[in-house]
Amino acid sequence: MTGFVFNEKPIEIESGDGAYVYGTDGTEYLDMGASYACVPLGHNHPAVNEAVHEQFDDLTYVQASYPVDVRTELYELLAETAPGDIDYTWLCNSGTEANEAALKFARSATGNSKIIATMRGFHGRTMGSLATTWKDKYKKPYEPLIGDVEFVPYDDPEAMTEAVDDDTAAVIVEPIQGEGGINPASEEFLQTARVETATNGAALIFDEVQTGMGRTGTLWASEWADVVPDMITSAKGLGNGLPVGATLCREWIAENYGSHASTFSGGPVVSAASKATVETIVGEDIAGHAADVGAYLQESLEDALGDEVREIRGEGLMIGVEVGRGANKVLKELALNHGILALPAGRTVVRLLPPLTVGEDEADAVVDAMAEVVL
Ligand SMILES: *Cc1c(COP(=O)(O)O)cnc(C)c1O
Repeated sequence: MTGFVFNEKPIEIESGDGAYVYGTDGTEYLDMGASYACVPLGHNHPAVNEAVHEQFDDLTYVQASYPVDVRTELYELLAETAPGDIDYTWLCNSGTEANEAALKFARSATGNSKIIATMRGFHGRTMGSLATTWKDKYKKPYEPLIGDVEFVPYDDPEAMTEAVDDDTAAVIVEPIQGEGGINPASEEFLQTARVETATNGAALIFDEVQTGMGRTGTLWASEWADVVPDMITSAKGLGNGLPVGATLCREWIAENYGSHASTFSGGPVVSAASKATVETIVGEDIAGHAADVGAYLQESLEDALGDEVREIRGEGLMIGVEVGRGANKVLKELALNHGILALPAGRTVVRLLPPLTVGEDEADAVVDAMAEVVL
C-alpha cells in the first residue's frame, strides 16, 4: 500500500455519464449519492466540462490578487442568486474551509468568540469546523480543538433562545442535517436562530455545503425556511465535481472579515466550473425539477417501504430512509446486486442524494431495488 485510502469500496470506477458511472469491468452503476452530492448536474456534464476545457486552455491559474473575468462573473452570479442582501463571496476549495472562514469572519466582525452549534451537526474536519462538529469519533484523536463552542439540541427553539447571548459570535446550523441522519429543521427553529442572533448582534451561518445548489428543491434551503442568514457556506455541488467552496455573506461581515486569505482562492478553472454549474442549475430550473422528482421519489418509497422501515424523510432530492438496521449492509447489497450506489448517514440511515437531473425512471429503479433489499 502506498496511498492514504479510507473506506475503499470493492468497485473501481473508470468513467461517468449523467447519473451513471462505469466500473473498469464495464458494469454500469446508478450513482444515487452523486458521489456525495458533488455532481448535481450528473457526471461529465457537457456545459461544465466545456467551460473547464476552455478556461484551462486560456489561463489555468493566476494569483488571486489579480482579477479575472470568470471569477468576477461568478461573484456577480452568486450575489444575484443568494437570498436577500447576501452579496459578497469568499471562494475556497472545500466545505470545511468555507466554514472555517465563516467562523473566523463571525469572530472578527462581532468581536465575540462564543460559537453555538447543534448536536448531530457536521461542519467539516479542519480544527475550527471540527470543533463545531458533534460526533466524538471525528474529534477525540485531535483534541484540544478551538474553545468556546456550545452545542444545543437540533430543532429545539427554546434551547436556541437560551444559548444565544451578547457574547455570541455565531450560530452555525445545517437547514437539514446531512451526515447526522437527514434531519430537517422546522422553520420555527431556523427563524428563532435568526431572531436571536439579530437581537444579540451575532452572525447566523447556514451551512449549505450539502443542502445548497438546488438539492432541497430551491437553490438554497434558506429559501424554503424563509430566513436570510448572515452567511451561507457552500461546496460539494458548487463546481459539479471540481473542488470549490464559498462563504457568501452580507456587507457587515465582508467589511469586517479581518485578514483571511488562501492562495488558491477562486482559481480560474474552478471558477469556470462553478459559473457553468450555477448558470445551468438556475437557467434550467434544476431545483424545481429536484422538487418534483424528489416528491415523486419520496412518495414511491413511502408506498413501497413505508410499513417496513422506521421513517422516510427529507426535502427535494435529499432523502433519508431510516432502515432500522445496519445501513451499510443494505448499501452493499444495493451496489453489488442491483448496481445502485447510495450513501449512509449514520449507522441506520440510507441516504439518497442523486444528481438533480434524474427522472422518474431512476427513481423507480431505486425504489424497486430498495424494496427487494429491505423487505
Ligand atoms: C461535507 C460537508 C462539509 C465538509 O465539506 P468538505 O468539502 O468535505 O470539507 C461541511 N458541512 C456539511 C453540511 C457537509 O455535508
